[in-house]
Amino acid sequence: MAEATQVGRLSSEWESVSGRLRQEIGEAAYQSWLKPISVREISKGQVRLSVPTRFMQDWVATHYAERLSALWRVENPDVDSVDIVVHSNRVGAAAKAASDWTPATSSTKSRRRDGAEAAGEEVVADISAPLDPRFTFDRFVVGKPNEFAYAAAQRVSEAISVPFNPLFLYGGVGLGKTHLMHAIAWNIRRNEPKRNVIYLSAEKFMYRFIRALREQTTVDFKEQFRSVDVLMIDDVQFIAGKDSTQEEFFHTFNALVDQGRQIVLSADKSPSNLEGIEERLKSRLNCGLVADIHATTYELRLGILQSKADQLGVEVQRNVMEFLAHKITSNVRELEGALNRIVAHAQLVGRTITLETTQEVLHDLLRANDRRVTIEEIQKRVAEHFNIRVSDMHSARRARSVARPRQVAMYLAKQLTSRSLPEIGRKFGGRDHTTVMHAVRKVDELRERDASFAEDVELLRRMLES
Ligand code: ADP
Ligand code: MG
Repeated sequence: MAEATQVGRLSSEWESVSGRLRQEIGEAAYQSWLKPISVREISKGQVRLSVPTRFMQDWVATHYAERLSALWRVENPDVDSVDIVVHSNRVGAAAKAASDWTPATSSTKSRRRDGAEAAGEEVVADISAPLDPRFTFDRFVVGKPNEFAYAAAQRVSEAISVPFNPLFLYGGVGLGKTHLMHAIAWNIRRNEPKRNVIYLSAEKFMYRFIRALREQTTVDFKEQFRSVDVLMIDDVQFIAGKDSTQEEFFHTFNALVDQGRQIVLSADKSPSNLEGIEERLKSRLNCGLVADIHATTYELRLGILQSKADQLGVEVQRNVMEFLAHKITSNVRELEGALNRIVAHAQLVGRTITLETTQEVLHDLLRANDRRVTIEEIQKRVAEHFNIRVSDMHSARRARSVARPRQVAMYLAKQLTSRSLPEIGRKFGGRDHTTVMHAVRKVDELRERDASFAEDVELLRRMLES
């Protein structure tokens, strides 16, 4: 009985949560990713959702889990996380499940049907994985680290003939490779709906290939791939070491290149550095344009945060953005996740986002990203910079010449470490946390008013971070 009530409550919560997310991500993504989800149970604050395939599990976990738990907390404050699992009551391998699950393609199909396309094209449409509606060119923030990859991707998406083949995008996790590939596909689908654009992960390519082998339909498999105009395969490092898949990929690749079809690939390393990939394939991969996406810079991170905040329709104070851009340097996905978390928190508790709440909410993430600048180092550097003694950081002297540098050091301690205000106060001669808070405000205020002071602080910050 109690269980039945719990299930009833969960489903009605799920209805609200998925309804809200549906509005945020749009109909196509909703149909592809949220609709197939089933709600299982809640236990110890964790809601368990299940999906039909591992591929979906990965996708939903990386793209929506965070937002789902935030939205769920609004419905039910007892929930602190959402776990995505694959239906356990299915028999058969993930490959089978992958083939059973085709909700996204149904929309592609119906659109294609409007154009009265041949049946062959429907088969092709079946292969392509759904595109994330947020991954478009206009939502991609361009900066030094990614401008080359961005330009190359745009070029491919606009060109009538094939400008370079393949386009090989590579870079670390969460730096925008998938985003750029989807953007290419969106652009082509919009501008030239007649061209067949296929996007899929190397993992899915492999699943399909293995299934075809098992079902002895490899001829159809080949036909499907060889009739596309633009083939995009994401994360090709996945097929490293998987010889038969690689072999098939190599043949598909050659056939398409020979017919002048565009190929776009991504990986976490450059072709030459991919391990477990045959030499002949590597050299073909190197034949086109290889474009790398470098690690983000502070400026790019700040730009991305601003753009994401605009998309979310929220105002986030400049100092909070700067703080996040400084602290979360690992990748864009994490940066986005951090922003989503603080926005969700602010909406939940109905307060504006401040530096303090940000540090509170992101405590775990910040520790992991901590650059381990110590307060002692900050005090030493700041003292040197302003030509005062380090002991003055702890002393009770209140002359402006020492009080101001001390405030700057407190400010930097707050910005660059994950110490709390009372902890910082203690390190500055046992001062009260309100003194630290005052120092942070004062320095913020001075930075606004006095450009050369702002530059000084910025310089110190950079020195401490390098
Ligand atoms: P990758 O495929 O390289 O691991 P993704 O393309 O999945 O990375 O990007 C991770 C997340 O970061 C996505 O939500 C994507 O929209 C976002 N992102 C990455 N780079 C940018 C950028 N330059 N501008 C806006 N969003 C970005
Ligand atoms: Mg990716």
